[in-house]
Amino acid sequence: MTSRFAPSPTGQLHKGHAFSALTAFALARRSGGRFLLRIEDIDPTRCTRENAEQIFEDLAWLGIEWETPVRFQSEHRADFAAAADRLAARGLLYPCFCTRSDIQREIERAGHAPHGSEGPLYPGTCRRLSGDERAARLAAGTPHALRLDLEKALSLAGPGLTWTDTHQGVQPARPGLLGDAVLVRKDIGTSYHLAVVVDDGLQGITDIVRGVDLFEATHLHRLLQEMLGLPVPLYHHHGLLTDASGNRLAKRDRAVTLKSLRESGVRARDLKKELGFPEDFAV
Ligand code: GLU
Repeated sequence: MTSRFAPSPTGQLHKGHAFSALTAFALARRSGGRFLLRIEDIDPTRCTRENAEQIFEDLAWLGIEWETPVRFQSEHRADFAAAADRLAARGLLYPCFCTRSDIQREIERAGHAPHGSEGPLYPGTCRRLSGDERAARLAAGTPHALRLDLEKALSLAGPGLTWTDTHQGVQPARPGLLGDAVLVRKDIGTSYHLAVVVDDGLQGITDIVRGVDLFEATHLHRLLQEMLGLPVPLYHHHGLLTDASGNRLAKRDRAVTLKSLRESGVRARDLKKELGFPEDFAV
């Protein structure tokens, strides 16, 4: 088996990340498998090399060992573009010229919008453009994203698509929760959903450990795996750590970052114990 920890270097890691990374590492150690670290830095406006270096330091402090070289997603844009081309060749992507305010206006005009886990679903404005209009806007160089044509993908996939979560059992895939998701952003040429699915496939990840906040995204990821002919990993979505008042830990909350814990004299051994991990991971 091969597990991974795939942080985005948009800030400092906190205890919740430590829990996730330790869980993935322990899973690999216990089964004699491989553990990979992947830096999900596709968005240059939010990710920094310094944060990635800090991640290496934090994980080493925790006693986690990973294979090298580490895959930095920003160095593999061609892989994501190739995957997008394959989806496009099957007619599964359409250009979307909408800005956020266009979408907002369209939703208000329609008076209602189905809601997904990430807010109102895309109302499908650009899916309904005529071929001529689409061609004209493309020819004019209008900036655009590429969205998944969900209905088409679902009809190609057929019924019976499932994935398995170790805590919640077999899940019938419900990719409709995210609607016609953006797979290629206009600014960065890919998206989290596309890059994560492509890389997990390319890196042969068999076991994905991540927070339950990404549970709904997995429904879409399963559909993308099907469309791209990628194997389906086993998912281990874990609960999210909260602070004393029950709020989710956030990267911007300095008090709980691994760096600040370390600098205030907390020992990795004690943090691991607090999070429920034995010193040597051998259980
Ligand atoms: N890069 C994502 C994050 O930091 C996690 C990706 C994943 O585990 O699938 O939130």
